[in-house]
Amino acid sequence: MPDRQPIEPSPFITEKNRAPVTVPPSDDFADAQRGLLATPHLPAVPTKDGERVAWDFAGYDFLREGDSDGRPASVNPSLWRQGQLTALAGLFHVTQAGSRAVYQVRGYDLSNMTIVTGDTGLIVIDPLASYETAQYALELYRNATDDRRPVSAIIYTHSHVDHFGGSRGLFAEKNDEVPAGLDVYAPAGFLEHAISENVFAGPAMARRSEYMYAAQLDKDPYGQVGSGLGLTISTGEVTLIPPRHYVGGPEIRPVPEQDWSPQYVIPWRPGLYALTIDGVPVVFQLTPGTEAPAEMNFYFPELRALCMAENATHTMHNILSLRGAQVRDPHAWSAYLTEAIRTFGEHTEVEFASHHWPRWGNANILEFLGNQRDMYAYLNDQALRLIDAGLTPTEIAEELRELPAGLAGHWYDQGYYGSLSHNLKAVYQRYIGWFDGNPAHLWALPPAEAGARYVAAIGGPEAVVTQAREALRADPPQYRWAAELLNHVIFATGADGFEIDETTLSEARELQAQTFTQLGYGAENGTWRNFYLTGAWEVLDGPQKPVVHGASDLVRSMSLDQFFAALAKSVDGPKAAAEQSGPIVLRWAVRSETASAEVKDGTEPEHVCTTTLRNGALIYVDGTDPLAGKPTATIRLTRATLNQLALAGPRFPHTFDQLVTEGAIEVDDKAAVDTVFGYLTFPDPVFPIVTPRRRTGA
Ligand SMILES: [Zn+2]
Repeated sequence: MPDRQPIEPSPFITEKNRAPVTVPPSDDFADAQRGLLATPHLPAVPTKDGERVAWDFAGYDFLREGDSDGRPASVNPSLWRQGQLTALAGLFHVTQAGSRAVYQVRGYDLSNMTIVTGDTGLIVIDPLASYETAQYALELYRNATDDRRPVSAIIYTHSHVDHFGGSRGLFAEKNDEVPAGLDVYAPAGFLEHAISENVFAGPAMARRSEYMYAAQLDKDPYGQVGSGLGLTISTGEVTLIPPRHYVGGPEIRPVPEQDWSPQYVIPWRPGLYALTIDGVPVVFQLTPGTEAPAEMNFYFPELRALCMAENATHTMHNILSLRGAQVRDPHAWSAYLTEAIRTFGEHTEVEFASHHWPRWGNANILEFLGNQRDMYAYLNDQALRLIDAGLTPTEIAEELRELPAGLAGHWYDQGYYGSLSHNLKAVYQRYIGWFDGNPAHLWALPPAEAGARYVAAIGGPEAVVTQAREALRADPPQYRWAAELLNHVIFATGADGFEIDETTLSEARELQAQTFTQLGYGAENGTWRNFYLTGAWEVLDGPQKPVVHGASDLVRSMSLDQFFAALAKSVDGPKAAAEQSGPIVLRWAVRSETASAEVKDGTEPEHVCTTTLRNGALIYVDGTDPLAGKPTATIRLTRATLNQLALAGPRFPHTFDQLVTEGAIEVDDKAAVDTVFGYLTFPDPVFPIVTPRRRTGA
């Protein structure tokens, strides 16, 4: 937590934030409190070891207690309203038909946990992001309803961690014992995407998530007031019970017309899947490549209830998450919303999602889904229109600063999580990429060098700081320009030969913190606010140590391909290429324990794969590398041992040695293996973002 006096909002920002809000009233507050059965009875959810807080309820009391008119000058009023809505925590009864009911636990994590009462137990949809929050959410349900029946099935709506990370917490009440054969459902491609997102750029995304969700920032009107989609992300243990059934996989195929049953209520359409889960009929629509690469909407005919996963929420969502991600497809997203409306629309009386509160009433739901659909189509098509007119990303975002009135007039289309500005740029990125076509930008100087030269050209550090101070004092204040000027000064310190006195540098940092803070206070987008305020903290106090939480389930679910992809991207390529003239070929024989348990005859089938280090690249081949000769060394180990290596992080080479000594790994030419592992490097979990990384040559 920043140990400083809060920065007050400037008169300009104060006036902006106190101005009347123009969006017409809605039923959101009534809907977000409808069916409340129980509220959290603890100020916080502790982590398993009791050492930390995984989720803080009390920290957000200021949002629950503040009335919607008592808006602080340091928070954008629209974001303040969204923060108040997302802070409403508890167990909510959503809908009922006979003994069948839908409940939601909300405000226990970034996401919601939904519980549907099955014939024999509970069907849990999306068990939150951490073991601990899922455990406490289920306990809240049990205590409020006295329903002690077991969890009979889990459904993951999509492949993002806030929808599966708590899965094992559902079995905390059973000493973590997950029943054998538990029915766990997910959309096709779920596991691959759930893991791969954490393999390739996972550490960088984790670092940027610290900015995006600002979980370590103080929770108060000067700090974190939510993330737009929910408050923040919990910081407990990430777990994953792998799915057993994939909708759209080889075992669950679309239902042919002749097999369609009237119990599904909606008319047959091609490409629909139908299952009965613990006695409950469910109809599924796959929506790959929308909010997540593997995602699905589904419908409960008995309840006339539609789960929209994360495809329709009470915000404009992200086409590109600011933590970093692969860019999404708003055209497909919009088309799948049309398909959902056409398939389920007229038969739906209640709609809920894995974030925010439900909506009731058919007309209300159709209006909502229709305007969400139009919003994603609009931003996609208008970005493309302007791309074709020759505009670059920043120009497009400047040209289109507002949605049309028919969309902007609804709270659920405001940019609390995605923003029109960064989503338009994302469409550019999707179709055109990082280069805007201008050769002046084809080979630009890196920030430290560019900074040093700009500062020199303007007349030195003091002159730049003076101009920044003037920009901040201007009426209206020029925050964006001040941020750019000060960024040059701060990054210039990373260039060799750049000189700046301590007083000027600390003034630059102070002014940049001021600038970021005012931009944060003004932002309607929760993640923009979090980025600006975390940036302000970092520019003054340096990068903060991240909260580290375990995720060993993810490692266990990695494919060999993913394991070796993670290893390959850790290799110091230039060094390896310079030092090794010939290839180093390692043959890996990996024994699978699950297979041996099934075979039960003592033979352990081996899976053989090869890694070849040549030209600075570590190439993984399933089986034998056709370009490599005889293996330099063979490594024999079990999959469990391989997992231990994957979990070792920077201690990888050390752990390898230890496991060889213990006999868990057999290796014939250890020197060759040591050479390869000698090139491994490990991610920096606290790399600086608003200050230069290190001094570079100018
Ligand atoms: Zn989510």
